[in-house]
Order: sequence, then structure tokens, then C-alpha cells
Amino acid sequence: MQDKWISVKDRLPENGNGVLVGRFNKRSKFYSIGIDNYMGYGKWWDKDYNEEVWSITHWMPLPEEPKIEMQEVKYGYWHLLDDCANAGVYCSVCNKKVYKTDYANQKVKSKYCPNCGAKMDGGDTV
Ligand SMILES: [Zn+2]
Repeated sequence: MQDKWISVKDRLPENGNGVLVGRFNKRSKFYSIGIDNYMGYGKWWDKDYNEEVWSITHWMPLPEEPKIEMQEVKYGYWHLLDDCANAGVYCSVCNKKVYKTDYANQKVKSKYCPNCGAKMDGGDTV
């Protein structure tokens, strides 16, 4: 994903697209960041105020909207495997090695698996 400011001198967004913009107010010498729409022909439009905006120097695409997942909670438990090369602490739900054994003695008792998000609630072997 693009995460750097793009100078309007270098490139402009597609017409009609709302993008993150940086505006420099020459009078107050105040820089602000907002979301405006590029209307083509060098014109920018502020939807909130319904007026043309000036002094946009930079823009960048908006980040993706947050995804809200309505997942049912999975329950699992940490599962310690201490033999051979695969030693580690595994998640019982996704079976991924989440921690190395070295860390197992420390507090690995995170309540959620960082891989699949399962809630660690079941029996425990660590
Ligand atoms: Zn998991």
C-alpha cells in the first residue's frame, strides 16, 4: 500500500476520488491534513464544507476501511511440544507454533493466539 505523500506536482489522484490531503494555508502558515476529493483540472473539493479547496500540496490514497469481523470466538489452549526441532508452544486451534520453547517458561500466557485469534481458555499445558 502506498503510504507516502505524493506531491501534486508529481501526480494527481483519479478524478472524484477522496484522498488524504495536506494543505498549506499561506496566510496563517498553518499546515493541515484532511480528506478532499480531486475533481480534475486542478480543482479540489471539500465535501464537508461543500466548497473548493486551495493550497493542496500533497495527497495520498486513503487507507482501507477497518474490517469488522463478526467471527465467533474460537477457544483453544497453549500446547507445549518439547521434543525435536519443532519444540515450541503451539496454538491448539490453528496448530501454529506461536512461541519458542525458550519463552515458554516466561509468560506466554497471552489470552489470544496472535495467529488465529483464538481465545486461550481451555485446558492448559504450559
Ligand atoms: Zn492459533
